Amino acid sequence: MNTAMRSSDASSFMMDLVFPPDIYCLCCGDAMEGSRVHGICDGCAQKIDWYTENPYRRDMDIFAFDDLWPCCRYGFYPRRIIAGFKLGARPYASRPLGRLMAERLAMTGEKDLILAPVPMHLEKQRKRGFNQSHLLAKEISRISGEAFEGGLLEKTRKTASMRMSSGSVRRMLLDDSIVLAEGASQKILGRHVVLVDDVVTTGTTADSCARLLKQAGASRVSVLCFVVSPIYTAMDTQEENDV
Ligand SMILES: [Zn+2]
Repeated sequence: MNTAMRSSDASSFMMDLVFPPDIYCLCCGDAMEGSRVHGICDGCAQKIDWYTENPYRRDMDIFAFDDLWPCCRYGFYPRRIIAGFKLGARPYASRPLGRLMAERLAMTGEKDLILAPVPMHLEKQRKRGFNQSHLLAKEISRISGEAFEGGLLEKTRKTASMRMSSGSVRRMLLDDSIVLAEGASQKILGRHVVLVDDVVTTGTTADSCARLLKQAGASRVSVLCFVVSPIYTAMDTQEENDV
């Protein structure tokens, strides 16, 4: 066992001590006696629209990614969970959410993957204290045993808040804000890369990332997320990625 591995195990253990998992519901905050869903009480779990289909399956020719694997559909309850995770500064929420997403990944039966988080601008990450996609991808990697690569992509500049904007507008704004990191190509040549994000709304961010990863030689790019908001509802929903 190398030093990096030991330090990662140690930080994982510390996180369990400081934030005992599955004691309070990530959604309503009530104490949980037990639950069938990781970190979410049975009452809240019943109100979530669990959804594992690819909502863009009829429009896949417009996207550079090959498949999309969500856990649930956008709504009041998933929005509360994600807002608590990102705005409520609860990095420990990546543990139960990561476990849920690892189970979604296992449903696909896909193996020999590279898990890559959607990048966040460093300034935004400093402000929040963490990149939620990075934490999720690391947790999914720890559970699934699939490889984690945290630095394949970089967000070079902040993009303006794009609430209520259409997919095409977002695409125009985002196309050149994400770039490949140096040396990314050697790591992903001929490999199946799984992009990890907490929320996929219009699919534009995932598309920008997937396009770059394919250009760099990835044989396949899939997207794994907690919440998906299908493109036809994008105009009516708040853009969680920009909060
Ligand atoms: Zn609850």
